[in-house]
Amino acid sequence: MKQNIFSFDPSNGEKLGEVPAASSQDIDGVIQKAKAASKAWRRVSLEERLVTIQKAYAAAEPALHNLAELLSKEMGKDIRRSTSEVQGTIWGGPYMANSALEALRSKNTGGATIEYVPLGVAAIISPWNYPLAMANNLMMPTLMAGNSVVWKPSEETPLIAQAFFDIIHKGLPRDLLQIVHGDGSQGKTLVESDVNIIGFTGSQATGRDIMAKAAPSLKRLVMELGGNDPMIVMKDADLQAAARFAVASSFENAGQMCISTERIYVDEEVAEQFEQYITALAAQYKVGPWDMDGVNIGPIINAKQHSKIIEHIKDAVEKNARLLHGTIEHPDHFITPTVLADMTTEMRIEQEETFGPVVCVSRFADLEDAISRANDSTYGLGAVVFGNAGAHEVADRLEAGMIGVNQGVGGGGDVPWVGAKQSGFGFHGSAEGHHQFAQVRVVSR
Ligand code: NAD
Repeated sequence: MKQNIFSFDPSNGEKLGEVPAASSQDIDGVIQKAKAASKAWRRVSLEERLVTIQKAYAAAEPALHNLAELLSKEMGKDIRRSTSEVQGTIWGGPYMANSALEALRSKNTGGATIEYVPLGVAAIISPWNYPLAMANNLMMPTLMAGNSVVWKPSEETPLIAQAFFDIIHKGLPRDLLQIVHGDGSQGKTLVESDVNIIGFTGSQATGRDIMAKAAPSLKRLVMELGGNDPMIVMKDADLQAAARFAVASSFENAGQMCISTERIYVDEEVAEQFEQYITALAAQYKVGPWDMDGVNIGPIINAKQHSKIIEHIKDAVEKNARLLHGTIEHPDHFITPTVLADMTTEMRIEQEETFGPVVCVSRFADLEDAISRANDSTYGLGAVVFGNAGAHEVADRLEAGMIGVNQGVGGGGDVPWVGAKQSGFGFHGSAEGHHQFAQVRVVSR
């Protein structure tokens, strides 16, 4: 295992800082403390848990507001987006805790009581692309369900994770929320340790490994995994609105977003116009470090991910994709926004999650073919259709956990954030989401 986890500025590779990586013994010690904390916390009523969490967030709020700059420096997104993530976290914690209150109350039905009781110790393992929001979304339902949490943030964003932890854990009971730093190696140790539930947001590949390692003790799993989201543009769609959505969704967070639009299928009758709109919009994007004026596409998180995106673009162009905007070569740390057309199923970019600022357009003559290609993926996180007549029927046939008709996927507030197929199972958000973090128990008296 590594001795220290180093943090780098993704826009130039310079070191920003470091944190100590947890050893196996450290993780053992943390788990023992988490067990003791969970025993005390499970006896706390739901109402008191809510009050404790609300107070912790209220006390933390002024300090949390200061985290946006560190978030930008370490992850690379511009300050407007970091501020929005910080605000969403400040707002989202107490909001989710409040919505869990109703969801987790016992219910009498059929002559029995249905209870939602704590599982014990939870491992929360989170990614770097929304390092605060993704962790918060898993932690809050976990704590409200009466579990203690051991959080392993991504090795790419340890500083912002530590800063968030330092602020928030002070308002919570001792050892209820603990942090361990490390990469996949510490992640594996945690998964194989004596935790009762694993809440994971990250890639499909890691999800598979976690599932295999959790199998011997049949640990509960909540898996929010990757996506390769399709979009279908029908011939009667509002083409400008569709193009605006397609570009914004493909380039958001430099394309490093699980519900980024990765594959677009457009009716050939309107394809030329649609491609023109897309190309014109792509030209308006400005690439650069988080503190550059007017920037809206930041750096790519690391060299491995940067190379993967370039390989995907090269592979597509070698297989005859048309490069409508952007270049094949890209500067270090950044990807110039790229628009490709005439995609085929043999291309890696069509099959794999690219996680970069690339728009991929394919034309279709037959709507049935477009639906088949949209569904021809192991992923099933989000899917979107733009169109009028028949758009809802198309939406009904898309294989994804979240579908958008003439808009993006997901809803605000109390709706689940949920993947279908190999984009995950178990989920957060909504009453059903809160139930994933508790043991359902039926008591017949
Ligand atoms: P990742 O899977 O590489 O890493 C995620 C976390 O898992 C990190 O903390 C990492 O250290 C840890 N990890 C790595 N290997 C592990 C192992 N074998 N056992 C246990 N833990 C391990 O993912 P990433 O690169 O950090 O994040 C990007 C991925 O996350 C993309 O696929 C994206 O689509 C997905 N994502 C999904 C959602 C969603 O809500 N569905 C949200 C955000 C990101």
